[in-house]
Order: sequence, then C-alpha cells, then structure tokens
Amino acid sequence: MQLAALFHACRSPYAYPVGLEHLRIILKAARGDLAAAVCVHGDRYSWPPDLDRSTPMERLGDDGVHEYWGVTIPAPTRRIRYSIYVRGRDGDYAWLTEYGIAPRRPRRGFFEYPYIHRNDAFAQPEWLRYSVFYQIFPDRFCNGDPTNDPPNVAAWGTPPTGSNRMGGDLAGIRQKLDYLQDLGIGCIYLTPIFAAPSNHKYDTADDYRIDPQFGTEEELKALVKEAHGRGIRILLDAVFNHAGKEWFAFRDVIEKGKDSRYAGWFYDLHSFPVNPEVCNYETFANRIASMPKLDTGNPECRDYLLGVAEYWIRQADIDGWRLDVANEVDHRFWRAFRDRVKGVKPDAFILGEVWHNATDWLQGDQFDSVMNYPWRHATLAFLSGQLDAAEYDRLLCRMRFTYTSEMVRGLVNLLGSHDTPRVRTVLGSREKAAQAAVLLLTSEGVPMIYYGDEVGLEGKGDPDCRRCYPWDDPKQRDTELLSLYRRLIAIRKAFPWLNDGAWETFVADPVTGLFGFRRLPSPLAAPERPANEEGLYVVINNSSRGNAVTVPAGVGVHLVDLLEVEMLTGRVEGDRLELPPHGIAILAPATVAAAMNRKPGLDWKT
Ligand code: CA
Repeated sequence: MQLAALFHACRSPYAYPVGLEHLRIILKAARGDLAAAVCVHGDRYSWPPDLDRSTPMERLGDDGVHEYWGVTIPAPTRRIRYSIYVRGRDGDYAWLTEYGIAPRRPRRGFFEYPYIHRNDAFAQPEWLRYSVFYQIFPDRFCNGDPTNDPPNVAAWGTPPTGSNRMGGDLAGIRQKLDYLQDLGIGCIYLTPIFAAPSNHKYDTADDYRIDPQFGTEEELKALVKEAHGRGIRILLDAVFNHAGKEWFAFRDVIEKGKDSRYAGWFYDLHSFPVNPEVCNYETFANRIASMPKLDTGNPECRDYLLGVAEYWIRQADIDGWRLDVANEVDHRFWRAFRDRVKGVKPDAFILGEVWHNATDWLQGDQFDSVMNYPWRHATLAFLSGQLDAAEYDRLLCRMRFTYTSEMVRGLVNLLGSHDTPRVRTVLGSREKAAQAAVLLLTSEGVPMIYYGDEVGLEGKGDPDCRRCYPWDDPKQRDTELLSLYRRLIAIRKAFPWLNDGAWETFVADPVTGLFGFRRLPSPLAAPERPANEEGLYVVINNSSRGNAVTVPAGVGVHLVDLLEVEMLTGRVEGDRLELPPHGIAILAPATVAAAMNRKPGLDWKT
C-alpha cells in the first residue's frame, strides 16, 4: 500500500456537512491500492475519548492516478471526531488521523469537525434543480426596437467586428420570450446592459443607467416582470473588477489627479496626472487602458458597488448576478457582496466567472457557482478526439472530487460563451454538436446554452462568436438540432435529479469510442440505493463506425429511447443498444418513459 498517496483533511472537499446532521467524508488513495476503508467515528465530547461507531466507505471512482472513497456518516450531535482505517490489497493496513498515518489504532489526534453550524450551511437555490440557463449577448439576439438603434448600426447578420453594433435590445429579448419559454429555458443570463462605450459593455460608464442602445429602466422592469410570469428568471452581469474610462470616478481622477476624492477607488494609480494615453495605472488584463482596475478594498468604492448590486434587485427584481473577472476581486468584497445580495433576495443566484478550480469561492460565503469552463474543455476535447472515452471519464471523476456535492450541483456547465469559439465550429459537425448537447443536458450541475448554439450557429473566437441570431435565415438554423435541444430540456425538467443525482459510468472504451453512464436520483438525499428502474442510461458513440453495447439495466427491464432523433437514433433490443456512427441514446425503462410522456407540457416535436 502506498502510504504516501493516502490523503484526507478535515475540510472541504474532503469533509463537509450534508444537511445539518450528516458529514460527508472523502479519502484519496493510489489507484487500485485499497481493499477496504472504514470511517470510525464518535461524538467529540464522549469520554473517555474514543470512537464507538464504524461505517464502511465505498469506492466511488478513479481518475487514472488516484481512487476516491467516500461515506456519509450520521452526526446527530453535530460534533464529530473520527479517523479512517484502510486495508490495502497487499494485506497491509493503516490508520489516518490529524497526527498522520500510523500502523496502530490511534488514541489521540482524531480528525475533528467541531460543529455543523446552520449559519455555515451552503445550499443552492432550490430553483436550480429545474432550470436550464440561456446566455444572451444583447446586441446580437434580437432587434425589437429600431428606434433605439445606434446611429452607425450595421445590418442584422453583418459579420461581427470588435466595434460594430447590430441593434439588439431588451425589447427584442421580450419579443422572443415565447421562443425561450417554448424551448424550456428557466433563467436568462444577459451580458452587461449598462451604459458603456463598447458593443460588449464591459467598460461601464454608468452603473445606474441602462445603455440607451438596449432600452430603458422601464423596459428592463417590463422584461423581468414578463419573464417571471413565464417562470423565467433573469441574471445580469456585474463588472466590479474594473470600470470604464468614461466612468464618473475615473473622469474625476483624470481631471483632478491625486486631489480627486475618487483617487483611492482605483487599485494603483502609478503617477499623476492619470493619462489613458500612457496607461499609468493598473488595468484589467495587460494594460487595457479603457478598463482601470478598481480597489474593492476601499470602503467608499466597495459601498458604491454593493449599492449597485442591491439597486437592480430592488428596482427591477432581477434574480442574481454573474460576476465578471470574479477571481481577481478580493474575497472580503465578495463576502460582503453575498450578504448584501442574499439579504435582499435570499434565493438570488451568484455566478462567478472563474475559469479554473474555484473551491476558494465556493465555501458558502461567496459565490453559489462558477461558469464551469473546465467541463467545457474536457467535453470538447473528448468529442474532438483529443481525449479518448476512458481519459474523459477519468477527467470527469477528477473534477467531481475537486468539489463537494453541493458545489457540483451548482456548477454552470457550458459548451461556449461570448469568450470562446462556438461549439458547432469547434466540433465541425452537427452530429458532434448533438452529442455535446446530450452531455450538457444530462450531466450533474446546471446547463447553460449560449444563444444560437441550439440551432448550430457557427463562430470562431471573439468577436466572431458574437454573431446575430439568424431569425430570418433558415440556412443558418438547424431545426433538427433545435428539436433535440427541446427534447433534452424536457427530459431535464422531467428528471430534476439530473442536477444533483449520482453518476455511474458503465462504458468508457478507448477503442470503440463508446461512452455510457447511468444517472440516478441522489444517493445523498436517499442513502439506500434506488431501484434500477429509476435511472436513465446515456450513451454516446464517439466514433465514425457503428457500435453496440450492453446496457446494465437488469434482467427483464424493457428499455426505450427517450430521444428518437432521426439523424442519430439507436436501436434497442432487450438490453442491447446499437448505435450508428456518432449516435446518441438516452434509455429509460418503459415505465419511466411512459410516466414522462404523460407529464403535460413536455411535447417536443415541432
Ligand atoms: Ca434596437
């Protein structure tokens, strides 16, 4: 047994509360090393100090290098001490405590989880379970009001440049709520809509004014109200890492230099006078003069920004914020931000832009979630052939155990955004774009669709990924892909445990390219294993050849395909599934499928 590979620490994501009376314990070991692991635990105040209960741990998966074991232990007094006993496949054994790894049962140095405090509880808003997100770049989604178009507006569908404008606006989004409701969208995320010189509006000039090119405050209120009436929430984009060069405080600093009362609002003004021509101040990224970096540690600056966050929730009843460049703003600011936002709207959603591991922001005191770019990277790498099915499965496993179960169910998965090339263009085929959609809508977490991806809109990196939605161009709209998205969203809503349920891979074959997994209702909510017939079986044939696989559904279970997509559909015979090249299938026992189709509002065929 490789003792050096054993790892556990009494902190998230290795130890964390599930509800107020259970603690989840995760152990990492060398892959293939352990025969058994047992959590031995007791109350912290029991005397003499010993551990009186043993709960076996379960092997949960491996990432190719490590394997992960886990257990949820009861903690009725909320004060827990524990150690972990492990037995290797070589017959060796060891005990893990805070004091290290020892060959004998420990008497001291147990791991201690002092108290599961309800004020520390981290729970995602309940509505996430039922919501599919949709990201809109407002200038390019729909032009509903030509009277507010900027003077130099380009014709709808003109190839995007870094500076051209197409006239999209809030009125256009409101006009398309029918479309979004019919698609099954539960939350719309709008990139910035406040007054700013650029077409993307990430260089705010006035946080308290809707950009006149997009509409008015009244139009925002009307949009939110009508969306709410249809069960659709609205997130806005907060740009608090930096300001724009026309922002009132920055203009004052340029005018008055170090005598400006706002000089302390900026992170580092290197010299005076402040001059955008020479960029003698800290900015977003590398010397982007139009985006001076804010000092969110300055009390007046902090209070101003928190006021903006509160204002739009109170005024327009928005449902939360997406936070731009969130990882470069200080943690104290985000803690204050969370308290302020949740104080006004307890089930508001706080979504940070973090492209890498985000555990520091997901401890329950800052964000609810981040945009899950690592998932995008892994999924597109698999579908484009850079990772084989086994490698993809291991990477998903590794990412899963980077986070707690509560963090995972909140992660916002995406196939693309205004900052990346489009999924259809990256993968180069409609069949692969369909496979990506299946993975997006059947994975743990929260799916977010970038506007137009559901009809196969093309686009390379920024600015090409910001093309106009092709409402009037049938050649650019893949209606079969749109039907698939509708169906997938209907499945998602019929089985809300896809958000937080278990995942069991049953095939990840590097030779055939087959990747199949079963999703089940949450084992944490219901620790006893659910019956077979409750699960869904998802299979992707990532190969240009036909393939067949046996689905582990149990004897006598009659499976049907929930997708029935003409271009890619599979054939099921008993537990045997045949898939065409690049085929996809979501199988369910016939009883489950019948129950789903009886639910109203889930008819998807157009
Ligand atoms: Ca317009």
